[in-house]
Amino acid sequence: MRPARRGVTKSAAATLAAMHLPRRIKHCRVCGTEVSYRVPAEDNRERAVCTACSEIHYENPINVVGTVPAWGEQVLLCRRNIEPRFGFWTLPAGFLEMGESTAAGAERETVEEAGARIELQDLFTVLNVVRAGQLHLYYRARLLDTTLDPGPETIEARLFREDEIPWDELAFRTVRLTLEHYFADRRRGAFVVHAGDVA
Ligand SMILES: [Zn+2]
Repeated sequence: MRPARRGVTKSAAATLAAMHLPRRIKHCRVCGTEVSYRVPAEDNRERAVCTACSEIHYENPINVVGTVPAWGEQVLLCRRNIEPRFGFWTLPAGFLEMGESTAAGAERETVEEAGARIELQDLFTVLNVVRAGQLHLYYRARLLDTTLDPGPETIEARLFREDEIPWDELAFRTVRLTLEHYFADRRRGAFVVHAGDVA
């Protein structure tokens, strides 16, 4: 549901955000005609509007869901066999699918990328990557055993102690932040949810 916001003028912040976000939509999903980005009547930001049938295409941040799978002192990382960041290490994570809860998606990605069997635990990080239009959610997880069977998106999956983490070869800032919070919380002896923004 997107009720029109009557009387709201397009804010400078919204304009700035729209300028910096990639314009992903080229053609109308209904009729295939080219779209143009403009502010529809009674809206307050630019949308991809079909130049033929006037269909308005709304775009929202994409959800990325993943886990921090732990086995005792060790944490599971996967080396990426795909772009972007081919060859760099990541926590198992990927795009949330339609019809899937965030918890189910996080578990699925862990199975797909590492072939790991896990017991999902609590939500751990909620990280906005505003410039990329993404929201990253990581859950803690407990590995049920150390049998790993990496899928095609993964070159290698293995366990790391904190002093073995390849900090300079991590794929994404949300992975680094999540690992930093994880080890800090573990030292304190209490895990809490961490929410924040990644530039
Ligand atoms: Zn159209």
